[in-house]
This record gives sequence, C-alpha cells and structure tokens, in this order.
Amino acid sequence: MGFCSKCGRELADGDVYCPKCGAPNALLPSGGKPYLNVLAIVGMALSASGASPLAGLIVSVLAYKKAVAAEFRYPLKGLAKAGIISGAVATGIVALILLLYAAQLLLFPLIWGSIYVLSQYS
Ligand SMILES: [Zn+2]
Repeated sequence: MGFCSKCGRELADGDVYCPKCGAPNALLPSGGKPYLNVLAIVGMALSASGASPLAGLIVSVLAYKKAVAAEFRYPLKGLAKAGIISGAVATGIVALILLLYAAQLLLFPLIWGSIYVLSQYS
C-alpha cells in the first residue's frame, strides 16, 4: 500500500502504474518489470518459433518464477505461462521426433537385414 508520488492517489498493492495519472508506482522495484517482459517475450518467441523450444521452456519458467516472486500484478505472467506450455509441447514433439528417428535408424537395418537373410534361404 502506498501513494502515487506524482498525484498522491492511493495505490493498491499490485499497481504497477497509478490508475489516475499513469505514473509508475515508485514503491515497486524499478527495472524489474521491463526485464521480466523481455524474458517472457523471448521465452515465448523461442518456444513458439520452434527455434529452440528447450531454451524457450527454460526462459519462460524463469520469467514466470521471477514474476511470481516479484509479488505484483504482472501483465505478461500469462505470456510466460503460455511460453512454458508451448515450450514443453514443442520440446516433447522434438524429443519424440528424435526418438522415432533413432528407433528408425536402429530398426531399419534390422528389418532389411532380416529380409535379406530370409531371402537368401528361400
Ligand atoms: Zn498518480
């Protein structure tokens, strides 16, 4: 709880900006919010683009954890959450593709090898 340093209006605990004049709430740690926004956006971009879903997942989790720790209404908390979900999904898909690829590499010579061996005896 505090008051706006510009217009004197009473501010709620979670107010990042004064609801009357729009001045930033001086009681909140300065610089924390833009930094968190960048983290959330970078995390979401990495996750959604598929460029590096695992990195996106890590960055999004970091952004979300920091947003929760900051204890103020954080507008991009939802974006961080979305980044976590899409990062997790994309990481899962990439892991599945890699797993299938590895299985295919392993099984392919096995299948064709056995077909070849069988054809030799028929
Ligand atoms: Zn104000």
